[in-house]
Amino acid sequence: MSNQPQSKHPETILLHAGYRADPATGAVAVPIYQTTSYQFESAEHAADLFALRKLGNIYTRIMNPTTDVLEKRVAALDGGVAALALGSGQAASAFAIQNLAAAGDNIVSSTDLYGGTWNLFANTLKLQGIETRFVDPQDPEAFRRATDHKTRAYYAETLPNPKLKVFPIAEVARIGRGFGIPLIMDNTAAPIICRPFAHGAAVNVYSTTKYIGGHGTSIGGMIVDGGNFDWAAHKERQPLLNTPDPSYHGAVWSEAVKPLGPIAYIIRARVVLLRDLGASMSPLSAFQFIQGLETLPLRMERHCANGQAVAQFLVKQPGISNVIYPSLQTGEAKRRADAYLKGGYGSLVGFELAGGREAGRRFIDALRLFYHVANIGDARSLAIHPATTTHSQLSPEEQLATGVSDGYVRLSIGIEHIEDILADLTQALAAAGTARRAAE
Ligand code: PLP
Repeated sequence: MSNQPQSKHPETILLHAGYRADPATGAVAVPIYQTTSYQFESAEHAADLFALRKLGNIYTRIMNPTTDVLEKRVAALDGGVAALALGSGQAASAFAIQNLAAAGDNIVSSTDLYGGTWNLFANTLKLQGIETRFVDPQDPEAFRRATDHKTRAYYAETLPNPKLKVFPIAEVARIGRGFGIPLIMDNTAAPIICRPFAHGAAVNVYSTTKYIGGHGTSIGGMIVDGGNFDWAAHKERQPLLNTPDPSYHGAVWSEAVKPLGPIAYIIRARVVLLRDLGASMSPLSAFQFIQGLETLPLRMERHCANGQAVAQFLVKQPGISNVIYPSLQTGEAKRRADAYLKGGYGSLVGFELAGGREAGRRFIDALRLFYHVANIGDARSLAIHPATTTHSQLSPEEQLATGVSDGYVRLSIGIEHIEDILADLTQALAAAGTARRAAE
């Protein structure tokens, strides 16, 4: 590994970090290690692996050589120390919290979340005894006000849709660090263009299903440990990492893995949560995500260029009451977009049709190039009407809190030629306009 090219550039890291060639065959593409188990070298070797005296392959539920390359590449991309791949983005968000908070504890989260994450926090984690205190992300001090002695983590999305207002990462990370509370950032919508660790976040989570995969073939998630948070300095604040773990012979995670580096958080997530809850990524999916990573920097460039062009196009169209895109924002929102996003403003574009729900329905049904799907971050252009789909399980009040109105349409702009994207939008807007007149 030591003779591998070193680089600080994502374009190089994502093709080279963590793997050169298969030691067994010389294969240049990362092999798909489709195996459940690994033959131990000796009884002593097996005992060392189980006792974490050595790191190595035991069983694919908790580690796999294909997945390992993916984890190393995403960790290197983000400037973190290690990563953990999981079966979905939802599993990544859940584990990221469960690794710090237990029944009776709480977290403080931004209100501006993907609907699935909102449900996880507001309902499922609540049933497990973990309370989520939702606060307005535009007011960093709200995180401080919601904090008490049982608060274990802060959580937010870098570029949350539908509002697409970039989260004040440094401001909230700083408040958290004062209490010994890490900021966990869901950076799903902004890989490459945002680097949360550089602004003080301690943990990143991804739905790799989106831009990292890029081709809409596989569901997956990732937690990345920034290695920049001193868990041992906050013993009372972070009990799960600082008190003996009865499930591991009384290991205290902030101490037990010190010789291996600042990886206490991600090791616990792997050897405790993944061991017990089992939301593993399959080796085949890991292979697909490795392919996606190789072209991620190029795709993000085109995603961002096309997103910008679509936003500028929509602003000029009649029948649209509001276009939501970071570069169009003003004031503090624009300042944050410029401070935290580098190289583009992403590919998510929102807009509100003046004709409301009926116009939204007509627009979606008229699309020919855009796919009507519940995904984002695919190489293809995608569209959805959140009020009746992704956010439909939320109450009307919750929908409004997350920024979803009746006429809101979300676009995830792909990497097709911009002329074809704009042509499809033009004809679908014409169809939506017709609907508006019919409804009037
Ligand atoms: N986080 C964000 C920002 C998302 O958009 C999504 C999915 O849409 C998720 C998390 C959940 O990811 P997954 O669908 O891979 O479980």
